Amino acid sequence: MQAKRNILHLPVYQPGKPVEDVKRELGLDEVIKLASNENPYGSSPLARQAIIAEIENNSIYPDGASIELTAAMAANLGVQPEQLIWGNGADEIILMIARSFLEPGDETVMASETFSQYRHNAVVENAVIIEIPLVEGRHDLPAMLAAVTDKTKVVWICSPNNPTGSIVTQEELSSFMNSIRSDVLVVLDEAYCHFVDDVDYHDSLELLKRFDNLISLRTFSKIYGLAALRIGYGIAHPSVINSINLVREPFNTARVAQAAARAALADQDFVDGCREKNIRERDYLQGEFDRLGLKYFPTQANFIFVDVRFPSKDAFDALLRKGFITRANWPKSPNWLRISIGKAEDNRKLIAALEQVLREAAVLG
Ligand SMILES: *Cc1c(COP(=O)(O)O)cnc(C)c1O
Repeated sequence: MQAKRNILHLPVYQPGKPVEDVKRELGLDEVIKLASNENPYGSSPLARQAIIAEIENNSIYPDGASIELTAAMAANLGVQPEQLIWGNGADEIILMIARSFLEPGDETVMASETFSQYRHNAVVENAVIIEIPLVEGRHDLPAMLAAVTDKTKVVWICSPNNPTGSIVTQEELSSFMNSIRSDVLVVLDEAYCHFVDDVDYHDSLELLKRFDNLISLRTFSKIYGLAALRIGYGIAHPSVINSINLVREPFNTARVAQAAARAALADQDFVDGCREKNIRERDYLQGEFDRLGLKYFPTQANFIFVDVRFPSKDAFDALLRKGFITRANWPKSPNWLRISIGKAEDNRKLIAALEQVLREAAVLG
């Protein structure tokens, strides 16, 4: 037996290390995970109640079309229900987009570094991947536009970008959308949109009114704190949503996930609180990196990409031994660590540990 040739060399996704594994392997009592951009404040108590209530219905298949959740979200966003699709995480929407739109030999354009799943799913579909380097951590939209050929089917834009936390502005995106061929699908991954406080951030709902070839992706895994339940969504023109629906599994989102998402959507206070705390802690961490003389990209998300000035896989190991899980192994950025923004107390402990690690590595005097 032989799997498809194009997938043989794909790396298996390496998730952030689980806290329990690290505790056991290193004999540590306390381990702080700042690796997967999870919500350190948990999730809304309303979501928790909704999950418990929904457990009653475990023996019944979910509503494949998520009608109630779709209605609630459509009202929340001011879009038509036909403009929404749900996935087992936004990850599944990325997979479905690749599956519906990319044929072998089609070209697809993305930044580098960016979220790994665009490339991964394009490889599975045997598409030709065109990667455009970031400039100072930001998408180079003019270069991405110039890379579009008559074979291009899908362009991926991640804003805020994972791992650099940078955004694309409304002006940049609007001019990009005006210039790109209208039969190229532009995927705007807004997994971290709820954390943004930059007034120049794009307004995807406004752009969706003007451009039928745009899809916005969002998730309940980050600010809503429901990563374990796997639920995310796409917003686009009904024709784009129809195309994606053709490849969707019949029951791709779980009942408890749909119920929790509906409840979480109704708890704006929880979201506002997480957002404020994240902004405060972001400013603290960026201030500390300035004090330590470390280069970072100013972030609009709940993580920061920082240049530790020695191989970040070694910084990762040293921090792990001190009880902090971070994220290294960035193919294009060997000295950079991505650190999720945690709770106040955890961030202060992290800075103390990082300072020690940098002194031990003789990066700091
Ligand atoms: C976390 C993340 C996602 C996927 O989130 P799901 O948990 O699959 O909903 C998508 N895009 C980016 C950029 C992310 O960081």
